[in-house]
Amino acid sequence: MRSKILILKLTLVSFHLLFLFPSTNKNYMSIAVTNFPTKQFSQTGLTNTRIRYQLTPEELTVQTIQRNEGVLNNTGALCINTGEFTGRCPLDKFTVKDAETESKINWNNFNQPIDEKYFLQLRRKVFAYLDSKKEVWIRDCYACAHPEYRINLRVINENPSGNLFAYNMFLRPTEDEIENFSPEWMVIQAPGFKADPLVDGTRQQNFVITSFENKTILIGGTGYTGEIKKGIFSVLNYVLPVEKNVLTMHCSANVGKRGDVAIFFGLSGTGKTTLSADPQRKLIGDDEHGWNNDSVFNFEGGCYAKCIDLSEEKEPAIYHAIRPGALVENVTFIDDTDEIDFHSKKITENTRVSYPLYYINNAIEGLIAGTPKNIFFLTCDAYGVLPPISKLTPAQAMYQFISGYTAKVAGTETGVTEPKATFSACFGAPFLPLHPGYYAEMFGKRIKKHNVNVWLVNTGWIGGGYGVGTRIKLRYTRAMIAAALNGKLNEVEYKTDNVFGIMVPKTCPDVPDALLNPRSTWTNKDAYDKRANDLANMFIKNFEKYAYCVNEEIFFAAPLVV
Ligand code: ATP
Ligand code: MN
Repeated sequence: MRSKILILKLTLVSFHLLFLFPSTNKNYMSIAVTNFPTKQFSQTGLTNTRIRYQLTPEELTVQTIQRNEGVLNNTGALCINTGEFTGRCPLDKFTVKDAETESKINWNNFNQPIDEKYFLQLRRKVFAYLDSKKEVWIRDCYACAHPEYRINLRVINENPSGNLFAYNMFLRPTEDEIENFSPEWMVIQAPGFKADPLVDGTRQQNFVITSFENKTILIGGTGYTGEIKKGIFSVLNYVLPVEKNVLTMHCSANVGKRGDVAIFFGLSGTGKTTLSADPQRKLIGDDEHGWNNDSVFNFEGGCYAKCIDLSEEKEPAIYHAIRPGALVENVTFIDDTDEIDFHSKKITENTRVSYPLYYINNAIEGLIAGTPKNIFFLTCDAYGVLPPISKLTPAQAMYQFISGYTAKVAGTETGVTEPKATFSACFGAPFLPLHPGYYAEMFGKRIKKHNVNVWLVNTGWIGGGYGVGTRIKLRYTRAMIAAALNGKLNEVEYKTDNVFGIMVPKTCPDVPDALLNPRSTWTNKDAYDKRANDLANMFIKNFEKYAYCVNEEIFFAAPLVV
């Protein structure tokens, strides 16, 4: 009965017409909002505001435009600015320290404790703030495509665009499921609410606070939507390994025609989303997955892809996902047009689009497949030291997994050419509530049991570091991954890298031989040797803190230094 009231939808005919001719922002302005579904949610403490429950992407798009919070581009996607924050703020992320979490959470820079009293106080304030608004958006959805691990979520947003993000990124219950929906976790996102650090226990006005006791993520002062999805990811990284023996992973995943699953670990910008979108393979997901006894499954129902330098030619699947219903963040337009300028970094380099997985033609039904046959560790090495592809022994795989290396270009300031190394355990330290050793042990057991091939792929620089060399062409990286997946790299000769001890193929179909050995791509060999030695030292120094929790074999999978 409830859903019948909810299905007081807008005049669909005019919607579809609009979506066929999407560049007419003006038409949206004339649609009446009075008939949007509303609902009472007494249990949320929201009693005065009007609740917009489970609106469709079209409805949310219309409302965003009417509120002057976004515009359409020429392909009909909704483009918004997320405001002051265009990326996550790890320093403003807190976890409530209570009887349950105190001994289990690996308290560190990413898992900062906060007293429950501050959480309760802020939750009260945020609800009062939202209740003072004319309307608020609520969406019921869930995380984890595997039915056994499904976690029901209720997302509450101050803006319709935040709610569209939740529609795109989380899994969407059927109408029947909505009838009897009982939410387990709640995400409350109020970008316009600002904390008072002096009385609220936060660092700044913006915050993300997770309470496991109250099963709530409270987000305030930031409109960056990525906090919503990564907030839930952090929760799953705690709940699933501890309670369900599921390894949670910051990786993308796809599956070949013969059912062979590949997963791609990597920090931000290393190529998880880009490389998992492969026309020859079905996509499981682009960022967050679980690995249980017999399957790999997506946590999410959508992708959150970078848009910087996006082109139809290089990344057709992502490019074509930018259409009605997609939510594009922080892009600018080519002058006097409604065409996105994908090269512009005017607002941020971290321009993004979220879209549901069904926008990708070849996403796999159910977003679940078997256990991995191949694992790729993606690293974007701006030093230009690591080979474009290499094969790892199980001990080296553990060493690299625990290290989680990538090197980014230092910044956008002129004259800054020195890359900056990042070591982020399990390729996802900011999202791991437990000690990395916990995940590493589960990972090690699984790669042994399933005899998985593990590859290290450098999607970064060749022929010299940043400023001298160039980023390796996407088509070569794709060719190397294809060769690893179709077994061609099992038929070629290998050479062991002197410093890193990893096995480097001498040839690879569709890739020039000279590219495969990084030292040979540098004109100045002494410079290469020095850089390689520097990087090896950084690995060793970083690994010191894990030495006590690994066996000798893993410890000695370290690079060699002179
Ligand atoms: P996040 O965790 O932030 O979502 P991600 O790992 O999904 O990051 P991508 O969105 O795939 O990263 O970003 C990789 C970027 O690097 C893309 O913009 C892609 O076009 C670009 N790129 C350039 N050369 C390569 C290459 N050889 N391999 C992979 N990506 C490349
Ligand atoms: Mn991604």
